[in-house]
Amino acid sequence: MTANKTVHVNGTAYRWPKRPVVVVCIDGGDPAYLRQYLAEGSIPNIARFMQQGFSGVADGTVPSFTCPNNMSIITGTPASRHGISGNYYLDVKTGAAVVMTGPELLRGDTILSQFADAGAKVVSITAKDKLRKQLGKNLDISRGNISFSSEFAGKCTMKENGIEDVLEFVGMPQPDMYSMELSLFVLEAGIKLLEKDRPDLLYLSLTDYVQHKYAPHESEARRFYQQLDRCFGRLADLGAIVALTADHGMNDKSNGNGDPNVVWLQDILDTRFGKGDTRVICPITDAFVAHHGALGGFVRVWCTGKATPTRVIDAIKNIDGIESVLDKETACRLHALPMDREADVVVISTADRCIGGAAREHDLSGLKGHRLRTHGGVSEAKVPFILNAPLNDEYRLKAGAATLKSYRIFDFAINGTTH
Ligand SMILES: [Zn+2]
Repeated sequence: MTANKTVHVNGTAYRWPKRPVVVVCIDGGDPAYLRQYLAEGSIPNIARFMQQGFSGVADGTVPSFTCPNNMSIITGTPASRHGISGNYYLDVKTGAAVVMTGPELLRGDTILSQFADAGAKVVSITAKDKLRKQLGKNLDISRGNISFSSEFAGKCTMKENGIEDVLEFVGMPQPDMYSMELSLFVLEAGIKLLEKDRPDLLYLSLTDYVQHKYAPHESEARRFYQQLDRCFGRLADLGAIVALTADHGMNDKSNGNGDPNVVWLQDILDTRFGKGDTRVICPITDAFVAHHGALGGFVRVWCTGKATPTRVIDAIKNIDGIESVLDKETACRLHALPMDREADVVVISTADRCIGGAAREHDLSGLKGHRLRTHGGVSEAKVPFILNAPLNDEYRLKAGAATLKSYRIFDFAINGTTH
């Protein structure tokens, strides 16, 4: 009945999937982790996907943060279209920093909601609840579709999430916010739902707790990836098209002493122009700063006094560890960002550095005993792009002709595989 139906979302036509399509966003899944474990032979399922299906390294959305990239993936569009360019932006009318996790800020439709409206059964599961509302934008829960977070797995209701008694169903206890189980719960729930309901589309979004804390060579990270690999294998065994990508990568940004390598930009600008003339916003900031101290590789500067963008750019451009300083127009053009939410100046650090606001406003106590690993810049915007099925001729040509974009992962998984 639905076999020949086409679903149009934000200018892309998607055919009706013949078998379930599972897209997994490995939060913070830098390609370096896969390189390490592929070389060691410790992730056999992913290795098989890459051999029998398709694999590449794609460009993610800059800033390489969680919210912008998850929204790019589920809308199939760059941030200039969907509008979510960070976790925070400054509302210049009120002077308030606005959290960008509200579904009303997301522009356009999601692939998930449009498929659901066309009659598909859709599942969206995220580790952190902060993403849930945007992922579930316009997703009609009353018709058998499901949207929940493992963070609040124990509190799900049919009305809000389309599922209840999730802990019993998955057979795992409520995972801790700072644990690898928070991600594994997402995958385990996806596997259980695939077994029971065989949904048409599943989006499974993990959390980067492990990658913030552990480098690829550390055994905790290896153990996490081995468990991910087993879950991916089980999803494939259930007959699904499995597509793996990440929202962003991850880099070590500590110095030889193990201390964070930070450019304290607000302090620098306050010294140069005086307090109140500029406002630095760190758009990585969220409620869970323990593992990154709100330090990332991308910040925004609004000129709120006599400092002009040109003067701010001049004051910043030669600072050690700064990779690029862009005015609003250039930043939006270069990185496909929405103009109306962009700052006067965009500042991006090199791979080994991060940028903060004022030193006294960052709580780094959660980093004690660990090197700072974080993301946000262009150096962390390369992500894996792996499918467990080969590409058809049309998409093989597409993949060869242009740089892969991670926001095309649903397009490639649904339209580009031979199935
Ligand atoms: Zn992330």
